[in-house]
This record gives sequence, C-alpha cells and structure tokens, in this order.
Amino acid sequence: MQYMSKYDVIVVGAGAAGLLAAGRAAELGGKVLLLEKMRQEGRKLLITGKGRCNITNNACIGDFITHVYPNGRFLRNAFSQFFAKDIIDLLQKYGVESILERGGRYFPASNKSADVLQALLQWIRELKVEVCCGYRVEKLIVENNTIQGLQANGQKFIARKVILATGGKSYPATGSNGDGHELARQVGHPVEETRPALVPLETEGSVAQKLQGLTLKNAKAVVWVNDKKTREEFGEMLFTHFGLSGPIILTLSRVVVDELHKKSKVEITIDLKPALDEQKLDNRLLRDLNENGKKKISTIFRYWLPASMVPVFINLLGLDPEKECHQISSKERKQIRHLLKNLRFRIINHRSFKEAIITAGGVSQSEISSKTMESKVVKGLFFAGEMIDLDAETGGYNLQIAWSTGWLAGNSCMQ
Ligand SMILES: Cc1cc2nc3c(=O)[nH]c(=O)nc-3n(C[C@H](O)[C@H](O)[C@H](O)COP(=O)(O)OP(=O)(O)OC[C@H]3O[C@@H](n4cnc5c(N)ncnc54)[C@H](O)[C@@H]3O)c2cc1C
Repeated sequence: MQYMSKYDVIVVGAGAAGLLAAGRAAELGGKVLLLEKMRQEGRKLLITGKGRCNITNNACIGDFITHVYPNGRFLRNAFSQFFAKDIIDLLQKYGVESILERGGRYFPASNKSADVLQALLQWIRELKVEVCCGYRVEKLIVENNTIQGLQANGQKFIARKVILATGGKSYPATGSNGDGHELARQVGHPVEETRPALVPLETEGSVAQKLQGLTLKNAKAVVWVNDKKTREEFGEMLFTHFGLSGPIILTLSRVVVDELHKKSKVEITIDLKPALDEQKLDNRLLRDLNENGKKKISTIFRYWLPASMVPVFINLLGLDPEKECHQISSKERKQIRHLLKNLRFRIINHRSFKEAIITAGGVSQSEISSKTMESKVVKGLFFAGEMIDLDAETGGYNLQIAWSTGWLAGNSCMQ
C-alpha cells in the first residue's frame, strides 16, 4: 500500500456537489484533491435536463424548501450562504449565461449541459484542484472518531478533511451507485432506506401500452391510495410500453413509490378534459352528438381525443364504432363523459433506479450538521449532494441542493 502526499481536503465524487465543494475549499486556500471513480468528471451533470441542464429555480428560499423531501428546512442555512444567484453568477464568470424559462427554471442560454460542466472544470483548474479520475474510494480511514484519510484503488491518501459527494443510486451507469452510502454506514452513519424517486410507473393491463408514445400536454392526473384521493398534478404526461411517465407522473411518483412499498392499492386517474367540469363537458358532448347525428361515433370521438386514443376509448366503453351519433343513449353519453374525466390505471410497480431521476433516502440528516455539513459521528468528515437523505421535485431544485451543500461543505472544512 502506497502512502500519498497529505491534503487539506479530499473530495470524493466529481459531480455537481463535489465540484462545488472542491472549488470552494481551494478558493479558501486549501490543497485539494478530487477523486472520481469514472474516467470523466460530471457524467450525470451532462445528462441533466435532457442534455440542457436545468441549473436551478428562481423560487425564494421559503418556497424552494417546500419542494424538498423529507425535510427541506435542513437546507435553510446552506441556501442562505450559496443560492441560485450565486451559481448563476459563478457560471457567468466562466462564460455561461443563463436564461429563465417557464416554471422559474434556469437553463444555460446555449442549451448545453456540457458548457456548465466545462465552466466548473475551468474554475477548479484555475484554483489548482488536483483531479484524479478512475479512482474509486473503497474505505474511509478513521481514528479516534476523526477522519485521517481514505483508500482508493488500494492506495492510501492522507487528509485533514474528507467530503463525501458520491451521489445517490439513480442512473448507476453515470457512476452514482450508492457507494457513498456504504462508506458512511461503515463509519457509523445511519442511512435511510433508499428508493427510486421521480421515476416512471408501471400499470396493470394493456391500455397504456396501446397508447405508447402519446404525450398529453394538458392532463390532470390524480393519485388514489386505497380509494382515497391523495394528490393531483396538472400538466404534461406520456404513455409508454410499460405504463406512465412524463413530468406530472414523475412528480406524483414520490407518493406512489412510498405507498407501493406499504403494499397500498394505488391507482391514477387521468382527466383528459380538466378545463371542463362535468356539466360543461356534458353540454359539449350533447352539442357535438346532436350536430353530427348521422356521423359515426368513431368519427366524432376525434373531436374529443387525439386520434390514437379513439379506438382504445371505444373499446374500453364497449361501443360499436359503426354506431351513429343519434343512436348514442344518455347512459352511453354519461359513460363517455365519465371515461374522459377518469381514465383509470392500477399502478403495480415503479421502474428501477436505472430510470429514476433521483434517489429518495440516503445518509440520515440527523447525524449531519445543517450549519456546516459536517458529520456528528466522525470529526472532519463532511457530506454533500444527493447522497444525503434529501430529494426534490423537478425544476432545478435537485441541482441547487448539490450546489449549495457542496459549497457549504467546502467552505466549512476550511474554517
Ligand atoms: C436523467 C437525469 C436528469 C436530471 N436532470 C436534472 C435537472 O435538469 N435539474 C436538476 O436540478 N436535477 C436534475 N437531475 C438530478 C441531478 O442530476 C442530481 O441531483 C445531481 O447530479 C446530484 O449531484 P451529486 O454531485 O450529489 O451526485 P452525482 O452527480 O451523482 O455525482 C456523484 C459522483 O460521485 C462519483 N462516485 C460515486 N462513488 C464513488 C466512489 N466510491 N469513489 C469515487 N467517486 C465516486 C460518481 O461517479 C459521480 O460522478 C437529473 C438526474 C438525472 C438522472
């Protein structure tokens, strides 16, 4: 085993949190080593926002923390020290302008996540952070409850402080596979059970499969747990070969995953006409049926639904597609109306970590100081980013958690 030179700070993981932690510690004069197990830094950062990187959100701190689970208040101090404007300013300093889009989301004006990564790499390069890719940290070295260093690729590295920023378990091909949770557990940190979050959902039956590829821009999806209305979201969703996906489904998935794990009965109903209440929708159906009495019902359904949904709907309703509109009874009209407002899916599973945007659970907040991000178990050990038991909705919130906790850990370990 080789003994390497001594560092002030070793940061483990060159993702969003690790880059900020390394940069900030170096800004404060630290001799910093950044170890990354993949061959390149920031693999996950590159795929964020479908390659566009939703950097952050313009919500104020009070609003921001309501989008974070299980306890966003843990982040108040981190956010008060380094927040949305700070990451935007830092990126701007390195040539990345940000633009504000719908929902308060900030993206790089170039629409390239690679520009965000390059800016951060340039920042840490200028600050002389030593970066070693292809180094997997296997073990933390702790004596008398104080960090001494770590072991990576069989080599020992000595440091006064260590920051773990190894991410969650989602998209493990990017390098984030839960290694850090194990490292934390080995030194006595409690780790909350991890679950995929912001994840697509699998449905019973073949209806979703028949609609695969179809996107609905303005749908309302309602989650029912044991027949009780639990949560709803309005916006865009998508049918896939296994079930449901798209922004509003990912948002709803957090409550769904928890309930599935509790073995609850979970259903999602989709309201295809959220802008019309039952009465208004009935008036509309009645008018269309009356005005088109001689037309086939399958033709008139195209007034109400995307074309690919029509045969599926007619089949679900058990209607004869050749039937003419004037032959539709009021009972059948009521059934049509009900299905347009309540297309029901039983949820049987969620997709795995491989397809989850984020990991719920992780290193428990209870043993981490929210003031500094330092461990309450091991002196000199710090945590940052998704590996902590924190997860948020889509909208740039998750990256801001990584930027802010990374910066705070880097800042605190040099005090
Ligand atoms: C497809 C997708 C799109 C997303 N889009 C957005 C978005 O637009 N906006 C947003 O806010 N959030 C988005 N997220 C979430 C966001 O990417 C994460 O919250 C964020 O990257 C977490 O940063 P992190 O630094 O904590 O972890 P990561 O980015 O996962 O970085 C952890 C790093 O640690 C390394 N590592 C792990 N174990 C070891 C070890 N033992 N030794 C050395 N290195 C190790 C990993 O290889 C990895 O590089 C998206 C996630 C996904 C999967």
